[in-house]
Amino acid sequence: MADSGRQESDGPRVRFAPSPTGKLHLGSARTALFNWLFCRGSGGAMALRLEDTDRERSSEEFESDILHSLRWMGLDWDEGPDIGGDHGPYRQSERMDIYRGYADRLLETGGAYRCYCTPEELEQRKKAAIEKGLPWRYDRRCLELSEQDREHLEKEGRPYATRFRVPEGKVVVNDLLRGEVTVDASEIDDFVILRSDGTAGFHLAVVVDDITMDITHVIRGDDHLTNAVRHVLLFNAFGVEPPLFLHHSLLMGPDGAKLSKRHGATAVSDYRELGYLHEALVNYLALLSWSPGDDREIFSLSELVREFSIRGVSAGKAIFDFEKLNWLNRQHVKMRSDAELTDLVIPFLETAGREETLALPREKLEVAVASVRNGMETLTDAVEPLDLYVRPAGDISGEALDELEKSLELEEALGVCMETLRANESADRETAERIVKLLREEAKSRGWGAKKVLWPLRLAVTGLTVGPDLVYLIMFWGPGGCAERIEAAKRTLGEQHE
Ligand code: GLU
Repeated sequence: MADSGRQESDGPRVRFAPSPTGKLHLGSARTALFNWLFCRGSGGAMALRLEDTDRERSSEEFESDILHSLRWMGLDWDEGPDIGGDHGPYRQSERMDIYRGYADRLLETGGAYRCYCTPEELEQRKKAAIEKGLPWRYDRRCLELSEQDREHLEKEGRPYATRFRVPEGKVVVNDLLRGEVTVDASEIDDFVILRSDGTAGFHLAVVVDDITMDITHVIRGDDHLTNAVRHVLLFNAFGVEPPLFLHHSLLMGPDGAKLSKRHGATAVSDYRELGYLHEALVNYLALLSWSPGDDREIFSLSELVREFSIRGVSAGKAIFDFEKLNWLNRQHVKMRSDAELTDLVIPFLETAGREETLALPREKLEVAVASVRNGMETLTDAVEPLDLYVRPAGDISGEALDELEKSLELEEALGVCMETLRANESADRETAERIVKLLREEAKSRGWGAKKVLWPLRLAVTGLTVGPDLVYLIMFWGPGGCAERIEAAKRTLGEQHE
C-alpha cells in the first residue's frame, strides 16, 4: 500500500494543511511560507490540503480567506481543492472512505480494535482515576473483551469507535531542527482513529493523507511535535517510512505568549486591510526564525526562494515585533515607483470613500501620491494627506489664517509669488523646481529670508500649515493654478476683515 512508484528524483513533496476554522493566521502563513520556500527552492511540489473535519467550526468563508490570503502573499501550490491534482480530493471531509479503508486494514491486522465504551462510561472511569490520584489513560477495557462479550455488544448494535493499539517500545521522531526526539510508547494511550460516527480522527486523517499524497517533508509548528509521535506510530503500523519532519517554533507576542488577538491583528487579511505590502509581510515572516547567515534583512519573494534553506531555520523563539514589521513595510514602500504606489493606494481610497480624490486625473494622482509617500508607513497612511488635493481654493484653516495674518509684508510677498508663478506655464518638475529657486532669489534680493515668501505661498495654496514639499504643490496645481489659489486665499483674507 505504500508503494506509489515515486522516484527520489521527483523532488520533495510538501503540504500546507490549514483547518478552515478561522482566517489565515500569521503563524499558519509562516508555516505555509516555509513549506513553499523549501519546495520552490528545491524543485519540489506543494499540495494545499484543507483539514476541515471539524464541520461545525469550518466554513467556506474561512476557506476562501485562506486561499485568497495565500495568493495575496504570492504563494501558489501545485495541487489543491481549487485546482485538483493526482492525489485528491484535497478536502479531508471528502476523503472519509479512504480513511475508513486504512482503519479497516489496521482492524484486520490487530493494529486497531473496536471500542464500545460510551463517552459517559469513559468520563466515569476518568473521574474515578483522578479521584485516586492516578493519571487517566484509556484502560484498554475493549481490547481485553472476551469473544462472548464482544459478540453480545455487536448484537446489541452498540456503536463503536476504532482505537489504535499502541505497540510497546520507543518511538523516534526524526526532526530536521530538533534531531531525534524519542518517546516511550507506554506514555501514549490507545487513541481513537475512527469515531463512532465513522469520521476519521485528526491523527489518522493526517497520516493517511501524508501517505497517499506522497509527502516527503512535513514542515509545521512545534505544537504538533507531540502529535508527530502518534503519527510515526501510525506510519510504522502501515509499513510506511515516515516523512522527514521540521517542527518550527510558534509565533509569540512580545510578552512571550502565543500570538493572539490581544496582541493586535493576527490574520494575514487584516494586515492587507491595514495597508501592509505583501512583500513586507512575507519578508518579515521569513525573517522570524530564518536568517540568510549574514545581516541582510530586505528580501523580495524571489530572493527568498533563492536564499532560503532549512539549515538557516533556528529553533529559537519567534517573537512578533510590530515595529520591525512597520520598518520593513516602509522599506518596501520606498522600493515601489510612484505609479505602482498609486495603484496600491487606490483601493484604500475606495474603501475610505474618497470619491473626489479618485476622480483626479491619473497623472495628478501620481504627483499627489509622490508628494506624500515619504510619510507613509502603510498604504492607509496616504488617504488623509491626499485630502489636501481636493481642498477647495480659498478654504483656509483657522491656523493657516492666523499664520497668514501674522506674516510681515504679506501683500508684497504674495505679489512676488503670483508674478513668478504667472511667468511660467508648465507643471513639470523642472519648472516647479525653478520657480522655488526663483522665489528664493526674489526674497534674497529684498533682503528677506526665503521663508518670508515660501511660507505664505504654502499657506495660501494649501490652506494648511503642514503639507508636502512646495515643488509637488506647484506640479499638482500648475503655476497658474497656484496663482489662482493665492487669489482665492486673498479673497478669504479680505472677507475676514470686512
Ligand atoms: N491542520 C493542522 C493545523 O492547522 C495542521 C496539521 C499538520 O500540519 O499536520 O494546525
